[in-house]
Amino acid sequence: MNDQTRKTAASLDLQDPLSGFRQEFELPKDQKGDPLIYLCGNSLGLQPKQTKDYIGLELEHWAKWGVDGHTKGQNAWLPYHELLTHQMAQVVGAKDSEVVVMNTLTVNLHLMMVSFYQPSSARHKIIIEADAFPSDRYAVESQIKFHGYDPEQSLLLWQPNPETGLCELSTLKSLMEQHKDSIALIMLGNSNYYSGQVYPIGEITALGHHHGAKVGFNLAHGAGNILCDLHQNNVDFAVWCTYKYLNSGPGSLGGVFVHERHAKDHELPRFTGWWGHNKQTRFKMRDAFEPMEGAEGWQLSNPPILSMAAIRASLDIFERAGMNAIRQKSVQLTAYLAELLQGLDSDKIRIMTPLDPSERGAQLSLQIKNSDRSLHQALTGLGVVSDWREPDVIRVAPAPLYNSYQDVYDFVQRLNQCL
Ligand SMILES: *Cc1c(COP(=O)(O)O)cnc(C)c1O
Repeated sequence: MNDQTRKTAASLDLQDPLSGFRQEFELPKDQKGDPLIYLCGNSLGLQPKQTKDYIGLELEHWAKWGVDGHTKGQNAWLPYHELLTHQMAQVVGAKDSEVVVMNTLTVNLHLMMVSFYQPSSARHKIIIEADAFPSDRYAVESQIKFHGYDPEQSLLLWQPNPETGLCELSTLKSLMEQHKDSIALIMLGNSNYYSGQVYPIGEITALGHHHGAKVGFNLAHGAGNILCDLHQNNVDFAVWCTYKYLNSGPGSLGGVFVHERHAKDHELPRFTGWWGHNKQTRFKMRDAFEPMEGAEGWQLSNPPILSMAAIRASLDIFERAGMNAIRQKSVQLTAYLAELLQGLDSDKIRIMTPLDPSERGAQLSLQIKNSDRSLHQALTGLGVVSDWREPDVIRVAPAPLYNSYQDVYDFVQRLNQCL
């Protein structure tokens, strides 16, 4: 690569309408105080500078008012979660009534399966990706066992094409046809945490519904990354976390989507707690449980306000930038990354992730032939924060809100140096 390409990166940054957002984030630095090249937003997103203020404000309210903070001020804690709903719904493409922020991802996955996995001896099978994130697999297996079924019979894996490592829709179709009316649920990640492949949410949902199955998605790598259009796509339920692309801090609360067609279904089995009870009578605490309509009816507990304050700080940025503009930049930024990698004079790198924007998000998974962990260590030594997956895969995810084209350029140059 020559100087011309670095100039190109700089000029792409100048033309980028979202470039100003980088300044709104805390960028981790090296010992000399220079910002690291942070490409790990798919694992833990960076901290918005305003997060401190949002959390600080609630600490202040707590100090000043004690218990009265529940009802006082603009951000009273009792309805605090409602402050997040509209912005979060915009991020995942849902109606406000379909979204709630609560608990954490795996907890929410269980709560959703309580409602949407109701196995019978005729229909008890769940399809997941062959290389699903371990926690998803544990959760699904334990639900199957909880209902008295055996994962050996009831858990089906959508296998990738061994040549490419990617899952193909045709394989899912034949799996559905082969097992016909015995599939109760399709539960997929989106995009896949390992390969970076994004699945067609709408087509998969239609396929599942055609066969009488429920369809749910784990959007851990989708929320804030791709356009999920959950409502339009007719998904039954979805769950996600907020600490990856949504920049809301380690272990922060998760989000849940329940399609509005289930909003008033009081017959659905569910695990319940006081926070899902009709708001008007919640504090009487003597009435029989009466679920709130919509996703809010799945809440259990009064939520951690300090975590929600961090989510608000981040969602305010998403609202200002706009999910469409974020995705548009992401498509271009990652295409630029792929282009530079392909321009390297190296046959050692195989990009596993599909390059068609409809099949990927921000992340590219790079298989580096004949390499081991020492390559990743060398890269880290050069100031790149990326993620290594055994045996030979580096995952890099330029985040459109805080990564620049120059970050991408510098990364590729340093990777090349390590090869
Ligand atoms: C990050 C991630 C999780 C994490 O689950 P938690 O309950 O938030 O710890 C689960 N599934 C997938 C696919 C993930 O990428």
